[in-house]
Amino acid sequence: MSEAPAGAVTTTAAVLRATDAAYSIESVEVGPPRAGEVLVRVVGAGLCATDHFGRSGLLGDTFLPAILGHEGAGVVAAVGDGVTGVAPGDHVVLTFDSCGTCEACVGGLPTCCAAFEALNLGGRRPDGSGSARDAAGAELTSRWFGQSSFAGPCNARFRCRTTTSIGRLAVRARAGARLDSRKWSA
Ligand SMILES: [Zn+2]
Ligand SMILES: [Zn+2]
Repeated sequence: MSEAPAGAVTTTAAVLRATDAAYSIESVEVGPPRAGEVLVRVVGAGLCATDHFGRSGLLGDTFLPAILGHEGAGVVAAVGDGVTGVAPGDHVVLTFDSCGTCEACVGGLPTCCAAFEALNLGGRRPDGSGSARDAAGAELTSRWFGQSSFAGPCNARFRCRTTTSIGRLAVRARAGARLDSRKWSA
């Protein structure tokens, strides 16, 4: 097992190790947020059909083992370099990732991002890395929909834009706020 990076945290995650298998509750290590990322202590996460798709085997053999979860909400625990829109202690909800620079993103349609599939279904950062490793040191698919929120804390990319779209990966929310699109608007 290689040495943990400085600032990594050990937490518990639901890890999918085989197609259609039960989630394995394991101790994992989540790395510190990189530049432009936030580490979010997950308080709640939805489970929906998209996660079942991730369990289905349709994403190929190299997808597993993986941490799923793509509807997380929680509290910012740490921020990476260059993040100024949120600070530790802020309550946030997480959504899918998008590049922010393609024609669709610039036009306010991040759901149509040219990189949507790679950023969300691939479960990896654009450089191919994940955010978490298992107890044996093996890197996990851990950026499912930019977050992999079936973990104590998870890393997500933060992009603060003056926009009314809901495409930002992390947005501020008041404790108890209803998580609808109007409340998500800046
Ligand atoms: Zn969903
Ligand atoms: Zn895009």
